[in-house]
Amino acid sequence: MNGIEGRFEVAGANAALSFFRTLEPARLGHGYLFTGPAGVGKKTFARELARSLLCETPKATLLGYCASCPGCTLFAAGTHPDFIAAAGTIKIGGAGGSALHDEDVTSRDLVRELSLHGYRSRYRVVLLGDVAFATHEAANALLRFFEEPPSGVVVLLTASGPGALLPTIRSRLVELPFGPLPAAEVERILVAQGVAAGKARLAAEVSLGSMSRARALLDEEDSGVRDASYAWFAQALLGEPADASFLRLDDRGRTGAEKRAAVGELVELVRAAARDWVALQLAGEDAPLLAADKRDLLSGLPPREPAALVTLLAAVGDVERLAATNVSAGLVVDYLRLQLAPAVATAR
Ligand SMILES: [Zn+2]
Repeated sequence: MNGIEGRFEVAGANAALSFFRTLEPARLGHGYLFTGPAGVGKKTFARELARSLLCETPKATLLGYCASCPGCTLFAAGTHPDFIAAAGTIKIGGAGGSALHDEDVTSRDLVRELSLHGYRSRYRVVLLGDVAFATHEAANALLRFFEEPPSGVVVLLTASGPGALLPTIRSRLVELPFGPLPAAEVERILVAQGVAAGKARLAAEVSLGSMSRARALLDEEDSGVRDASYAWFAQALLGEPADASFLRLDDRGRTGAEKRAAVGELVELVRAAARDWVALQLAGEDAPLLAADKRDLLSGLPPREPAALVTLLAAVGDVERLAATNVSAGLVVDYLRLQLAPAVATAR
């Protein structure tokens, strides 16, 4: 037996996994602190632990849940009455809101939530993600809890920096370190989230083992490539030398498949840009666009004769088919640029 019955889906978390796998349920404490860099799975582990504790199917292990009992169903719906999650700074006092609420937690809320026993479960789990305490008094709410904790109440805290918690609080917690995720694990999760394999591998390589860093890099790359693709489209339409360096077709570190994927993305974006540009000429400034944020750029481009627009849209469609073949990525880009370029006045 590996110390887990049922489901438990986390990445990394080696220290926390081996700790809770071997912990007898009767010896579960009242406070745990998960420390480590951002994006390495601290909160994911805390949520999976909470879900395990609130699962109503009998199990011999602390970790693991059935995913089908009423407790698991309530947890999945985000409505389990014995799971409270909050993040951010715990402020002092409070307006007396009805429950803990993300980003707006007060010490009074915290005191109330920590004083309650489980409603339907033998456990009540309070997850405080990346918490900081605005004042000493706010921190005291948590200290008082540790002096006389109600049975079954478990507080899980996550922190990325060592200085976020007072030593008096820290000393009451069992601290479990979270290290960077292996690159292969980051890649696996990104692919499961729908990121293309080539991109996922690159992002994982430079992620330093952090999912949040990998996602931020992908988002930035996406918007960078998109902006560069629209600029390329405008330059090509004007007949200017279009800058395709963002496609990194000369990068020897990139495989042919990666280059073709980059060009495929350019062709797709150019097709959307061409449709929007034509729509602006047909319906005027108020035409609904696929890319509303590019309206100014596209409406500033010179119009063409309707017949030329029909030919251009058809040609871009042809390039999309060409890009799906084995033709070299550089040739596809050159061919696309020629289709967009203004017709050269032919001397007769
Ligand atoms: Zn269950």
